[in-house]
Amino acid sequence: MSSSHLCTSPHVLGIESSCDDTGVAIVGRNGKILSNCIHSPLKEHLTLGGIIPVIAKEFHLMNIDKVANKAFQESKLQSIASDIDAIAVTTRPGLDFSLKVGLNYAKRLVKKYSKPLIPIHHMQAHALMPLLENRSIKFPFMALLVSGGHCLLSIAKRYNEFELLGESRDDAPGDVLDKIARRLKLRNLGPPFDRISGGAAIELLSRREDADRFKYFASSDGNYPMAQHQDCTFSFSAYRSMFDKFVPVIDTLWARGDRDVLQQELGHVCASLQRVMLIQIAKRLQRAIMYYRMFWKYENEAVFASDGDTSHLGFELRKLVEEDDSCIDVVVSGGVAANKYLVDGIRLACEKGFETNNRVFAPSKALCSDNGLMIAWNGMLKYQDYLDRGDQHYSSNQTNLNCDIHQSVIVDSSQMDLLDRQATCPIGRDISESIRMKSMKLQKLNHPEFKIKR
Ligand code: AMP
Ligand code: ZN
Repeated sequence: MSSSHLCTSPHVLGIESSCDDTGVAIVGRNGKILSNCIHSPLKEHLTLGGIIPVIAKEFHLMNIDKVANKAFQESKLQSIASDIDAIAVTTRPGLDFSLKVGLNYAKRLVKKYSKPLIPIHHMQAHALMPLLENRSIKFPFMALLVSGGHCLLSIAKRYNEFELLGESRDDAPGDVLDKIARRLKLRNLGPPFDRISGGAAIELLSRREDADRFKYFASSDGNYPMAQHQDCTFSFSAYRSMFDKFVPVIDTLWARGDRDVLQQELGHVCASLQRVMLIQIAKRLQRAIMYYRMFWKYENEAVFASDGDTSHLGFELRKLVEEDDSCIDVVVSGGVAANKYLVDGIRLACEKGFETNNRVFAPSKALCSDNGLMIAWNGMLKYQDYLDRGDQHYSSNQTNLNCDIHQSVIVDSSQMDLLDRQATCPIGRDISESIRMKSMKLQKLNHPEFKIKR
């Protein structure tokens, strides 16, 4: 397979099918968007009360070909054979059945048209999405991913190298929002609540209400879950148990049928839930940024401890940090990043609440949740690197047994057969323990938005 003619205008087709949405997109050089098509069976899943993996698989099987054809037509390219240079597909992490549909489809395409196959890590693709819209974001950057399946903080060192600072030990924020929205029976409020996600419904109701009323989600000491843990671990399951206590209040309001009173009370519940989630996320981000400034930056730049001994660094580094105003770009992505209140709150914390002023980037609303474009874009980043480095580098890598096939641009069809999906896979090397060991104390976030009032 020759790539000589491709250098002038590579086009990458990306396929996403890791959860419920079937997405296919095509990007050109430097991320020019040629098409971005999606089939989202949200309404059907809402009716079923959540995503059921075997049903999600059936939707993918029914739609993937249609979505791919539509994406190709919209791109105005002439043919896959002549105009598409590589095919990228989500291989990990995600629902096993769903991943399988996309991967099998991608394998059929690459074999039929003799194209390279580019495996994509779904969470890395979410983190890299904002770079498509804003090229001023600098590596390393902090990636906060909030979605229906994940909540994690990581540092993106390069487009294919991430370090995990912390993640949720239980539920993901989107999952909690969806479950609480279901128990609040928000769908029964009618349009548009019967066709939007639980998270979007909670945001819509919150806007009109007063988030200061914390009678619902405040813990007994007025703190957020895991506050006593000096790390970047999240926990969202507590909100569900706090919520259990007042389900009867809401049920009574539904039974009474006074729409105004009901909607007002629902608004308070939703607004206070958003507020407590924001506070937890902002505090975790504050610690992650502090860790970056005080330790990560220096350890990675190898300024100190050339002998590898970093045990004495705390004091020395703290002295230095007093004069250091280094900041790091923060990217917020994943379905829950569609929440304007949350992203505005994080921006407020980053600009006014933390020790340094950090820029915050989130994808435009439509690109926060799963889509084919993020896969095509990540595929393009890998493919351009492949072209820059030359075929030689990659083919020799692929014969190396230690090489992770998921990190490669795969050109050899026998290698493609070895590629399989992975339902679970961390975003990168886990360095959460190193944060815990630093026992960093955080300053208070003084802005009223971050105070829990009871
Ligand atoms: P993802 O897992 O990335 O596909 O994102 C889906 C999740 O994002 C679901 O749990 C949704 O409830 C959540 N979500 C979508 N829109 C919003 C919003 N405006 N506010 C909060 N959560 C949202
Ligand atoms: Zn996702």
